[in-house]
Formats: sequence, C-alpha cells, structure tokens
Amino acid sequence: SRRFVYPMRQMGQIINGYQYAEAAGERIVGLLDMEPRVSDAPDATDLRNVAGRVEYDDVSFAYTDADGEPEETVLDGVSFDADSGDYVGLVGPTGAGKSTMMKLLLRFYDPDEGAVRVDGHDVRDVSLHSLRESVGYVNQDPYLFYGTVAENIAYGLDDADEDALRDAAKTAGAHDFVTDLADGYDTMVGERGVKLSGGQRQRIALARALLRDPELLVLDEATSHVDNETERVIQTNLADVVADRTTFAVAHRLSTVRDADTILVVEDGEIVERGTHDDLLARDGLYADLWNVQVGAVE
Ligand code: ATP
Repeated sequence: SRRFVYPMRQMGQIINGYQYAEAAGERIVGLLDMEPRVSDAPDATDLRNVAGRVEYDDVSFAYTDADGEPEETVLDGVSFDADSGDYVGLVGPTGAGKSTMMKLLLRFYDPDEGAVRVDGHDVRDVSLHSLRESVGYVNQDPYLFYGTVAENIAYGLDDADEDALRDAAKTAGAHDFVTDLADGYDTMVGERGVKLSGGQRQRIALARALLRDPELLVLDEATSHVDNETERVIQTNLADVVADRTTFAVAHRLSTVRDADTILVVEDGEIVERGTHDDLLARDGLYADLWNVQVGAVE
C-alpha cells in the first residue's frame, strides 16, 4: 500500500514528542528554558527485546522548586511488580501521585529513593531513546502540532504504512470522526488548523501511540474527555492491544480499569490497596467507596 513520508513542519520547535506531551500536561510555558532533568548515563545501554516486566522498588519522590529544593513528598515508598503482559489500573483521589508514578517509568524525573526497573534494568541505566521507544505514552492533554491528522499520528516515524495508520486510528476510535473532517486524514489540525475537541485530540494521540506498537503502554487519563459510549468502544478495541503488552491505565472513570489484572489504589503517595476489582470491592475500603460513588452517580 501507499506509504506516507512526512516532512516535519516546525522542526526547530520539536525536541521530542515526550517533552511536548509533558510540557502540555504540566502547562510549562517556556519549553526552551527547561533544564533537562535527566540524561543518559555515560554507559547507558539500549533496552532490547523488551518483555515488559515493570518493578517499582521502594520509590520515593518529591518535585523540586525553582531553587532545586524538594517540595512535599509525592511518592512515599511505592513498591509493586507488574508481569509481562499485565494490565495495571491506577486509581485514587486527585493529587495522589498516579501521574507522577508514570512519569518516573518514562524517566521524566528520577526517584529520590528506590528504583524503577523494566525487565530488571534500572531505567537510569538505559538510554532514554530506547526507553521512550519501548513505552507508548498518552496523557490527558496531548499536543497536536500544526500539520495533517496523518502527520500527527505518524509523528516521529520516518514513514508509516497507510493501512497501519488507519488501523491505529480505528482502534483508537478516531477513524470515523477523521473521515468526517473536510479533508479526512489530510485535514490540517493544531494551532491555525481545525480545532478538535479534547476527546478527539486524545483519540489521535492514542492512535499515535498504537501505531508505534510499543512493548509497554501508559494511558494516563487517555480517554478522560471521551464520552462513555465512545470509551466503551475504545476499551473493546483495545482488548487485543492490551492482551499482549504491559499496560498501565490511570483513570478516574473506574469502568476503564475494572478488568485490570491488578488495580493499584493510590492515596497520598502510597499504594493503600491493590487487587482485582472483585478483591477490592470485597475489601470494602477506599476503592469500594469510589466505586459506589460512581455507580450511584450513574444510576
Ligand atoms: P490527578 O488524578 O489529579 O491527575 P495524580 O494522582 O495523577 O492526580 P499527580 O499529578 O502525580 O497526582 O500529582 C501529585 C502531586 O504532585 C500533586 O500534589 C501535584 O500538585 C504535584 N505535582 C504534580 N506535578 C508537579 C510538578 N511538575 N511540579 C510540582 N508539583 C507537581
């Protein structure tokens, strides 16, 4: 089939997609003022043949202020293991530290204590490039640059197979609204382009992550702006994708993680409960409270 080759518009602005995603997520304004917080170790090796085991080993973390002084502790002794292929849900109150946990896996920040490991390798010992190629990341406020929908999905790849691109968009629940746009996949979006809703941008970002076929997937409120019905469709579509790779899903909408192999309930920087949906309901703790509130709200 036809292959797209993408000229990068705005090349000078682009450092890498993760920094954009991160900047958008954290509302950092001056991208160019940003000090790189992490860099490759001198003897960093590439992650290869990633199986997708993930280990948090007694991880503690605090953000630092402008003077480099640590602020309040955000993660306090977080430990858990995910097996290759697991689907792990993270839930809990706002500000509990769920997104921060995921940022440490992608190495946007390094822990102050403890370690995060992928297949047994401390993420500080592997190249950032290989780590971020292995871990697909979608956050709740993804960045679309000024370019076509297709370019946005294929972003960062040298070229992309048109069928694969459409398949990724279909799985992400984006294909139908994209084909409804005036120029379909060739519609210009981003600043100065067609304005897309938050839920539409999220679906394009999800397609972008899926097209890369990463060994691990981190979905941080990735479908939070999508309506319930569309989200159900995406969940069904994702079942195959999730089945054979380690996936983390941070969600307020608990139905998103109901089928997870393990749900981690995070509160004040600690994992306070863990188990399957049924385990946690039976436990009748924080998860059960959150679930009952949401079920009550729906009924
Ligand atoms: P939510 O469900 O609202 O997304 P969360 O559980 O994902 O919350 P985090 O986003 O990890 O929580 O935030 C944990 C704490 O860290 C919060 O108190 C938040 O204000 C703080 N925080 C997050 N990002 C930064 C940052 N870049 N600098 C300083 N503090 C931050």
